[in-house]
Amino acid sequence: MSISSRQTLSVITRNPQRTVELGRRLGRLLKKGDVVALVGELGAGKTTLVKGIALGCGVRDASEVTSPTFILMSEHKGRLPFYHFDAYRLHGADELTVLGSHEYFEGTGVCAVEWAERVGDALPADRVDVRAWHVNSKRRRFDFSPTGPGSAKIIARLGRQISVR
Ligand code: ADP
Ligand code: MG
Repeated sequence: MSISSRQTLSVITRNPQRTVELGRRLGRLLKKGDVVALVGELGAGKTTLVKGIALGCGVRDASEVTSPTFILMSEHKGRLPFYHFDAYRLHGADELTVLGSHEYFEGTGVCAVEWAERVGDALPADRVDVRAWHVNSKRRRFDFSPTGPGSAKIIARLGRQISVR
């Protein structure tokens, strides 16, 4: 675990369960209107992390949190509504905006967006950016970067939790 001067928090996990646990810790810190934007190649662990985030938001059954790429958004009931977007098939922010994404991003729940780079301009200014990296067959690295004051607080809290574990 390391925190760089630009407040990016980097965490390496050694198995999928650790990634779910990391996501759960992040999910517990999220409130309505918070958005997590994930980028990283196929198999980097984005959906695995999102399962954990969903659990942290109170979703009971994370096995329902999957990435069927032809479904753009799936909603899960938790402590807060949890909206899981997969932008894999989208080609630009407009394609998300016309679907009313702002209502979700500014709304009653927590949003996680996979393939966020495809819809960058549709995302809120203050969000938790996550870059997932495939280190080797078992290890994945997750870089959490803030883009505003709200996300900076969330990431700082996540970092403190992990460092005292
Ligand atoms: P993405 O959504 O980025 O395409 P997934 O989370 O769907 O990635 O898939 C990650 C794959 O890598 C899963 O098959 C998972 O079992 C495997 N894996 C191996 N090690 C890890 C780890 N440390 N964290 C997350 N996934 C891992
Ligand atoms: Mg995925």
